[in-house]
Amino acid sequence: MEPAPEQTPFRATVLTLYPEMFPGSLGLALAGKALAAGAWTLDAIHIRDFATDRHRSVDDTPAGGGAGMVLRADVLARAIDAASSDGDTRPRLLMSPRGRPLTQARVRDLAAGPGAVIICGRFEGIDQRVIDARGLEEVSIGDYILSGGEVAAQVLLDAVIRLLPGVMGNEVSGTHESFEDGLLEHPHYTRPQEWEGRTIPDVLTSGNHAKIDAWRRAEAERLTRERRPDLLGAAKGHPSGCVSV
Ligand code: SAH
Repeated sequence: MEPAPEQTPFRATVLTLYPEMFPGSLGLALAGKALAAGAWTLDAIHIRDFATDRHRSVDDTPAGGGAGMVLRADVLARAIDAASSDGDTRPRLLMSPRGRPLTQARVRDLAAGPGAVIICGRFEGIDQRVIDARGLEEVSIGDYILSGGEVAAQVLLDAVIRLLPGVMGNEVSGTHESFEDGLLEHPHYTRPQEWEGRTIPDVLTSGNHAKIDAWRRAEAERLTRERRPDLLGAAKGHPSGCVSV
């Protein structure tokens, strides 16, 4: 789990009202080990540090009326400007249910880049003017509403970090998974050979790798057809020799 020496680590900067939520789940297991090994870096910036009034307020009532509060453009813009200077080429992502749904393809793009500045919303959302003025790319993790962007940011980062060079033990296991080739993954089995009267499909213990590949491909297609027919149009050829662990 060591990054190649010439590799600059993926740099994540998270802007949040709850910096103590980080690294959170990202401090453990694969992401946590990668963080400790220097494959990525994390900076959690407290948006409230950029409030200027006596009460350090970060939100205000919505223009036009209505329920809830809105994160102020001026406060958030100061935080963004402090987090990413002019030469910073990292994308600025705003976690938002209105955003483009996150896909494995976008995760791969991000993992190949220098890092990301990630803004976590709270309340009803953030003032539109800062989205426009700072060119924020809205990213959704699904069609449901969370109470804040922090968990969404961790979802995004978790997906990215496991793809960083040197992070995943078995590189092969990253390339044949669900979505990577437009199909859901085939089922997995491991020992014992028989459990509660259920056995491992014979083909998997046959030692015939061509047959195993064909079976896995057929199962992947069956599952995708049953569960996610919307993916099938996009499915590319499944490389043979697909190894799973
Ligand atoms: N009123 C907003 C929801 C605000 S939820 C609306 O209807 O669109 C508060 C914050 O949680 C958001 O600003 C966003 O940062 C985060 N959030 C909620 N759901 C999310 C999702 N599905 N994907 C990404 N971020 C989400």
